[in-house]
Amino acid sequence: MGVNIEKVFGENVFDDAVMKVRLPKSDFEKVKKLMYEGGEITEELADVVAQAMKEWALEKGATHYTHVFQPYVISGGAEKHDSFASAPTDGKIENTFTGKDLLMGEPDASSFPSGGLRETCRARGYTAWDITSPVYVRENTLCIPTAFCSYTGESLDTKTPLLKAMHAVSKQGVRLMRLFGDEKTRRIFSYVGPEQEYFLIDREKYLKRPDLIYTGRTLFGAMPPKGQEMSDSYFGSIKPRVKAFMDDVNVQLWKLGITAKTQHNEVAPGQHEIAPVFSVSNVALDHNLLVMDTLKKTASKHGLVCLLHEKPFDGINGSGKHNNWSLTTDDGINLFKPGKNPENNKLFLLVLACTMAAVDKHAVLLRLAASNTGNDHRLGANEAPPAIISMYLGDQIGDVVEQIIKNGKATSSLSSGVLNFGIKKLPVLEKDPTDRNRTSPFAFTGNRFEFRMVASSNTIGEANIVLNSMMAEAFAEACDALEGAEDFDKAVEEYTAKLMREHQRIVFNGNGYSEEWPIEAEKRGLPNCKSIVDAIPILLDESTVKMYEKFNILSKAELEARKEIFFEQYAGVRNIEALTMVDMAKKMLIPVAVKYTGDLADTIIAVKEAGADATVQTELLTEVSEKLAEMKEATATLEEVTAKAASAGSNEESAKAYKDEVMAAMANVRKPADELEVIMPKKLWPMPTYGDLVFEV
Ligand code: ADP
Ligand code: MG
Repeated sequence: MGVNIEKVFGENVFDDAVMKVRLPKSDFEKVKKLMYEGGEITEELADVVAQAMKEWALEKGATHYTHVFQPYVISGGAEKHDSFASAPTDGKIENTFTGKDLLMGEPDASSFPSGGLRETCRARGYTAWDITSPVYVRENTLCIPTAFCSYTGESLDTKTPLLKAMHAVSKQGVRLMRLFGDEKTRRIFSYVGPEQEYFLIDREKYLKRPDLIYTGRTLFGAMPPKGQEMSDSYFGSIKPRVKAFMDDVNVQLWKLGITAKTQHNEVAPGQHEIAPVFSVSNVALDHNLLVMDTLKKTASKHGLVCLLHEKPFDGINGSGKHNNWSLTTDDGINLFKPGKNPENNKLFLLVLACTMAAVDKHAVLLRLAASNTGNDHRLGANEAPPAIISMYLGDQIGDVVEQIIKNGKATSSLSSGVLNFGIKKLPVLEKDPTDRNRTSPFAFTGNRFEFRMVASSNTIGEANIVLNSMMAEAFAEACDALEGAEDFDKAVEEYTAKLMREHQRIVFNGNGYSEEWPIEAEKRGLPNCKSIVDAIPILLDESTVKMYEKFNILSKAELEARKEIFFEQYAGVRNIEALTMVDMAKKMLIPVAVKYTGDLADTIIAVKEAGADATVQTELLTEVSEKLAEMKEATATLEEVTAKAASAGSNEESAKAYKDEVMAAMANVRKPADELEVIMPKKLWPMPTYGDLVFEV
């Protein structure tokens, strides 16, 4: 039976409605003000809020509370639970939770990646309540979203710089609004709607694949006779077992105040998507982490496993996360909305020009923000989308930009018109001003940009730090250029045209998967970082440091640390993959191939003794033996190059060695193994095949 969404929505959230009932009116108003305008909460007020929270949480069955934080580069959230139990008096305890417990936590930060930002002996980390993201009860625990920083104040997470970037874009955006005569706007919100892709496979089968268990992706596996070539998975009918899983996930998310909205089967067999309604970026970040965690935990409950890896299976599509992003004023003006006559919408055109400039200038940084080790198998590997950053504007806006580039201004815009199915009983629909371009990493979709590169298992924090910071910078530069202009209208027109001319190379409306595009992009001078490893150094590029320092979002020391962490993580992930591969080759695949050659040899002798022709058996034995020898040798080489990469001098050198040498050596082990899988009897193959994994849920 379905549930009534209205009834369950937000049931486990300490939201405005709950606060209104449980807090004294004046305190409620103070908290609301802090939530929307920022400022420091007094310990007195925090005590009142904490008391109300505790009572509410106890009624919901909570026994513990935790600050939830997001250590840098660890994809999920981190939590450290404390029970409400006080020290006993006369053998009795009391449930306690104070304002101080709410405001601040102090997890030992020494075991999180720090990139050398602090020594292990200086381990203190602090979490501070992010009052703008709601508190909730989950799994008997009161969860408090927080930001995480070190004793010396450096941010150790993704949340802190995101909050700073949101603040910066808001401040500079308001400055821009004032130039256009708007006196009302007090804040600009950056909104995000992340579409999350994932795979579901059977848990029993998963447990037979060490590669999936240790690395989240398959390291071996031949293509089954059927892949995704029939396009019969995308939007296909949802299987009952998957539907039961989705229903379960949705109810849990609704209770947490997450607007789970859209769900469907994706392109690859076994692949699905879930998308919530968009929300303010930091809340969207927290919610997306909860979505990922809920998907994983609920899958286990249903005898399934949810794979969030970007490329769990070679040969079929991988997963991404589309980051739908927009900037909107507190009274609802969406800066990316062109309106009916975009050619006359000066604010929109200026914002668009700023976006073009920002994307062009920070292309590599954007690419990096969307990247992790897993995403290297998609970006730059002929899969959606390519590693080259470009912007798709669609026919209507693309044409307006072209007019401005040519004539300094636009005088008309193509109307999108209506769509007539030509059947009387069907309605005539008004068309969207842009068609969809599935091949563009950064596509304008009518009132927002869809940044389609983000890694499926990553947080969306990184991407939105860059998006909001780069816009803050572009807005600030526009304001610097335009403030005090004598003829404002003329100055805006000229500045818009100037930016569009300078950055027109970033616009590409064609097919991003075509062979011509990388060649054309190179001619335009657009960067093409095939691997995350090539993109990491951009963190210390002058353009990056200047932008982040200008708005106090990340310091050079923090960026240095992040660079080290990126390299370290890349090397770490590849090392686990290589070791897993060696382990599987030695303990699972080589032994079964050896056994099979033995069986074949016995058969050959028996067949010959029986006086029959054993040519076929002999040919097969030769073929299997050759591949076996190839795999054995490749495994030895992989072991060698992995050990070498692991002992390279710096994190950067190590990462490069894994990218070039270890990856090549892994491919050499995989090739004969996959060929053996194809020729050997299925009952001898020691693990479920691709066919078993993706088609049999
Ligand atoms: P698609 O058809 O591209 O797969 P979906 O419906 O799956 O689109 O997801 C689109 C996402 O974009 C949703 O999360 C939606 O809430 C979000 N979105 C819509 N409008 C905006 C906006 N103005 N700003 C940010 N996100 C938005
Ligand atoms: Mg979608």
